[in-house]
Amino acid sequence: MLQKRLQRLKDLTAAKPALTEISSFYTALYRLFAEAEPFLQVDVDFTAATPRQEQGFPLLSVEMLQIDGSAAQQFFTALLQLLHDHGQQGQAELKTLQEAYAAGKLDLPALFCAVFERKREPISSCATSIDIQAALLEYTLATALGAGLQRCVEQGLKSEVKNWDHGYCPICGGLPSIAELSGEEGKKKLQCGQCGNRWGFHRLTCSHCGNTDHESLGYFTAEGDPGYRVDICRKCSGYLKVVDSREKGANLPLEIEDVATLHLDLLATQEGFSRGKKETPEG
Ligand SMILES: [Zn+2]
Ligand SMILES: [Zn+2]
Repeated sequence: MLQKRLQRLKDLTAAKPALTEISSFYTALYRLFAEAEPFLQVDVDFTAATPRQEQGFPLLSVEMLQIDGSAAQQFFTALLQLLHDHGQQGQAELKTLQEAYAAGKLDLPALFCAVFERKREPISSCATSIDIQAALLEYTLATALGAGLQRCVEQGLKSEVKNWDHGYCPICGGLPSIAELSGEEGKKKLQCGQCGNRWGFHRLTCSHCGNTDHESLGYFTAEGDPGYRVDICRKCSGYLKVVDSREKGANLPLEIEDVATLHLDLLATQEGFSRGKKETPEG
């Protein structure tokens, strides 16, 4: 998986030199993801999980996450340093975050759980207490948690429920970051932005709100960018980037295609569309 990702990043940089900086950041990031000591394991009871999944709940719930505190600490320290070195976010704020973390002001396992459950309050109150923006703290935590979950999926964690027809991930409940059309009939698969799992989905349905009315569904493409398009829904203003693997080639690491198409996110956002918000049953 790592080699495939790095190769695709290399190819992209060769084709689009403007992506050099961002490619070097993601090269370092995916190396860290692959080479760090694992810090997250999940303890799944499939017998109990399957009936819950049939009601629309994802496979994993927060109590199944087993976080190795010291490995998590090492990973998070390395991640903050990497972000700092690559200048992806505000440097001064990152420095503040690094110092607060080194001083023991972050309860990492509890914060990971808050991110997993999409609970804003623990994250924003921690951010306020160390005087940084909640968005930065959430981004770093979500990146780290995602790395842990991706490792579980790469090592074989699967959802055993067949007919999952929701727009959120059957494993972790995350939203898709990108989708792929493949095969002769162009079957659509969504890829989870959190754990990297892929699942089949209706081709002409909005993954955010379930809208099937073709009058309010559509897509746009960018000039000079064959094989990519952006599906949009005028009912909920959601969008989803789609890679046509019949044009781009099969088995692409879609998380890298996501990076390669940030300009499409910009276009979609400018038109008032968003990646959407998750709606799952309460409970
Ligand atoms: Zn997922
Ligand atoms: Zn929609």
